[in-house]
Amino acid sequence: YFRQNRLPHLWCPGCGNGIAMKAIVQAIEKKGLSQDNTVIVSGIGCSSRASGYMDFDTLHTAHGRAIPFATGIKLANPDLNVVVITGDGDCTAIGGNHFIHGCRRNIDLTVVLFNNNIYGMTGGQASPMTPLGKKATTAPYGSVDRPFDACHLAEAAGATYVARSTAFHEKHLVDMIADGFDNKGFSFIEALVQCPTAYGRKNKMGSPANMMMWMRDNAVMKAAWDKLPEEKKTGEKFPIGCFYKAEAMDYDTAYDQVIERAGGAAK
Ligand code: SF4
Repeated sequence: YFRQNRLPHLWCPGCGNGIAMKAIVQAIEKKGLSQDNTVIVSGIGCSSRASGYMDFDTLHTAHGRAIPFATGIKLANPDLNVVVITGDGDCTAIGGNHFIHGCRRNIDLTVVLFNNNIYGMTGGQASPMTPLGKKATTAPYGSVDRPFDACHLAEAAGATYVARSTAFHEKHLVDMIADGFDNKGFSFIEALVQCPTAYGRKNKMGSPANMMMWMRDNAVMKAAWDKLPEEKKTGEKFPIGCFYKAEAMDYDTAYDQVIERAGGAAK
């Protein structure tokens, strides 16, 4: 599932993107999806390089525009499994509008957000996911902007499957993505990944291993999180697991019905 005889990848040593990319491939394998029938679409950024390393039909598109490209592919050929790989800047800033409208339409895509809390490739600027007080090249004294919770955002905007995992919890991440493939509608999986270079170095977080330990120590499985008293749901702790599932007609089916009602030829 990975391209051979290509240039070596450009990710820094210890980057978490490779773990998340592998998890997507393992989820594809787990669900028995056809390699020939799966398309990988990405935007721009460190995470979005992944599409170039994967042996599928792939599109490496414009910054923030992966979801519109993927929407076009899905509408043109609804039988394809369309997977979007995006980063936190790509998905929630530059492509933020596309993200919420993709959720709203419930178009049948699986969107995996590699969240490293920063714009890595473009120079370490703060993204909408940079935590309060963390440093970036555009926030040398610490970010004062409150970060998005991308899972809450996806749920509120209309996604019908919403989950979070991390590069530390690789098997769990595979399961979350595989479950997303089962949903006929907009599936959103946030994968926290360590970025020891642009984020870690600036915030003195030590080695990639330390960053993974941070994920291990702070992630709380959703079922356990729900039982935590409110006063314990503080600090840097965050829940992982599937947060939301809903039954709703996906965009392609709804579109077909409109065409049928109008007397045209449905796909
Ligand atoms: Fe990975 Fe960060 Fe390096 Fe980008 S800058 S490749 S996210 S470690």
